Amino acid sequence: MITNTQKSERLYEEAQKYIPGGVNSPARAFRSVGVTPRFIEKADAQYIYDADGNQYIDYIGSWGPMILGSNHPVVRTAVEETISGGLSFGAATEREITMAKLVCELVPSFEMVRMVNSGTEATMSALRTARGYTGRNKIIKFEGCYHGHSDGLLVKAGSGLIAEGGSPDSAGVTPNCAQDTLTARYNDFESVQKLFELHKGDIAAIIVEPVAANMGVVLPNESFLKQLREICDVNKTVLIFDEVITGFRLALGGAQELFGITPDMSTFGKIIGGGMPVGAYGGKREIMEVVAPLGPVYQAGTLSGNPVAMAAGLAQLTYLKEHAEIYGHLNHLGQKLYGGLADIVKMAKVECTINQIGSIGTIFFTGEAVTDYTSAKKSDLKQYTDYFLHMLNHGNYFAPAQYEAMFISNAHTCKDINSTLEAAAKFFHV
Ligand SMILES: *Cc1c(COP(=O)(O)O)cnc(C)c1O
Repeated sequence: MITNTQKSERLYEEAQKYIPGGVNSPARAFRSVGVTPRFIEKADAQYIYDADGNQYIDYIGSWGPMILGSNHPVVRTAVEETISGGLSFGAATEREITMAKLVCELVPSFEMVRMVNSGTEATMSALRTARGYTGRNKIIKFEGCYHGHSDGLLVKAGSGLIAEGGSPDSAGVTPNCAQDTLTARYNDFESVQKLFELHKGDIAAIIVEPVAANMGVVLPNESFLKQLREICDVNKTVLIFDEVITGFRLALGGAQELFGITPDMSTFGKIIGGGMPVGAYGGKREIMEVVAPLGPVYQAGTLSGNPVAMAAGLAQLTYLKEHAEIYGHLNHLGQKLYGGLADIVKMAKVECTINQIGSIGTIFFTGEAVTDYTSAKKSDLKQYTDYFLHMLNHGNYFAPAQYEAMFISNAHTCKDINSTLEAAAKFFHV
């Protein structure tokens, strides 16, 4: 039982004097669970350690990037070897070609790719490219899907924004910015068809998380992605898979490989940087050729493709490619953890729904199936908070909000999962 959190509390107080809410990204503020965020000292493999010296099994993994576990020797060594040669040149390097070739080999939809510094930049740039390519203005996104914090995408945008309560649309976004963003319901193809009827010839792109992971994990139903592919083909609309979470996680080639559906463009982040700030967008050659300096769509980045970030990402992706068995291990642990939780809530006769695919999953405190934003929002947040606090105090570092995914890394073991399930069983009194 973890009881000593004095140092985190002291740091949080200090942080709030200088940083809005004490954090550099809202999801880590623990506001929706009403406790002091743990200030982190270090992380190693599947464990994370706070400033008071408490150890937790880490089910956040920096919100996805640490698929090999933290401080993986292969990634660390690659970074260490690279930094002595200079941190950034703002110039072309051979390493960027290696990275581009590798991701084009791994990702079915990639013929060309541009590296950026975050998932937000990747989605924002992909949409600009799709608009430039089609000469159209409107885009469709889905309620509860998050695509980073650029103005036009902060519309019904899930996770941090749901957890904060109130309006999901951010203040400071002008109506003009939001007016070209149409929203449809996840897993509801009819809602997409209606938008195409209403805005015939105006829709540049559909952007979708092929498995939604920012309203909690929500799986696409069997025909959903296929129908999106078809309607985009018919209307010459660019289909964009936002694989910032699913990329290199559900399979080496992401959700698009797993489901066998090839989008026109895709966006990546998180895992692709191995823990460094990296994003990427890419797709069909014909589309990517509209990007500057080849074409008229401007997009740039002083630190894009910098050697250290590329070294970390390359090391992680190469390791994943050379160790295909990792995905078997992740799936096995995923089944064990989420299956184990499902057994526990069943025994306890509590109303919960567990959505899972591979190493990501979410336990929703509602008995109803969770298939979209509306059903996700039926979760009892008070129960999630109680569960979260219990698990945290028993050494499990989960996302501090209902509408997030849990992440398992390759460093986790069956023993870790058993220990987590034991803590959960205690919470549910079984
Ligand atoms: C995290 C995330 C983003 C934004 O990435 P950042 O690196 O935080 O800017 C975009 N899309 C999805 C699906 C994400 O999960």
